[in-house]
Amino acid sequence: ASFESAGLHPVMLRNVELAGYDAPTPIQRYCIPAISSGYDVIAIAQTGSGKTAAYLIPILNKLVGKAKKLAAPRPNPATYRPGVDSMVRAEPLVVIVCPARELAVQIFNEARKFCYRTMLRPCVVYGGGPIRDQIEQLQKGCDILVASPGRLIDFMDRPDALTLRRVRYMVIDEADEMLHDDWQDEFQKILSGGEQEEGNIKYMLFSATFPKSTRELAKSHLAEDHVRLR
Ligand code: AMP
Repeated sequence: ASFESAGLHPVMLRNVELAGYDAPTPIQRYCIPAISSGYDVIAIAQTGSGKTAAYLIPILNKLVGKAKKLAAPRPNPATYRPGVDSMVRAEPLVVIVCPARELAVQIFNEARKFCYRTMLRPCVVYGGGPIRDQIEQLQKGCDILVASPGRLIDFMDRPDALTLRRVRYMVIDEADEMLHDDWQDEFQKILSGGEQEEGNIKYMLFSATFPKSTRELAKSHLAEDHVRLR
């Protein structure tokens, strides 16, 4: 199996080349076809396995040809004056939730590689950073949102800054790191956040282990015919 045989859009194939990835890792070999075929996915995968690209490549590949049609209207980032021009709220197509700032930035950097020349714009928000700056980033357009769970909840309570109504793909990365008992309600809220208008969100759950809390979340939100990879 190779990236060339995966049926990727030429722009995405070029971005894979630019990233220097010669061949897909095992998790990528399984994930790319499953996500491309429209399945929800649970993947038991460790950091270092190439799991980030395993979901980013097929998700972005699905969106790249339709970016112009799907992406929300946004201001010209070169001329937009935050706080002066009228507020534009972010309407991401993809939300990736992960436990910590460092990982969020890593995923964001990976997303930037694969968004190159796609018209899709990635953004990252996490706790600890000044929320004002993050709102300004979101207002420049946000198609792919990487977020820590607490900060995502903060933004979900600011519907003038962010709405999840356009979300097509929701990825929970390092799920077992986040799904402690006291976060169950928050995760129900996050996972249900995009469901008001669009009923067809695809869910991807990535986790190093698969404890009860993660299994329960999967049961309540993933499609029954989801694909499980390990
Ligand atoms: P991850 O497991 O997503 O944290 O990825 C671990 C590292 O492997 C990252 O630095 C990626 O850029 C890199 N990587 C991911 N996929 C590939 C691949 N197919 N070939 C070479 N390196 C890769």
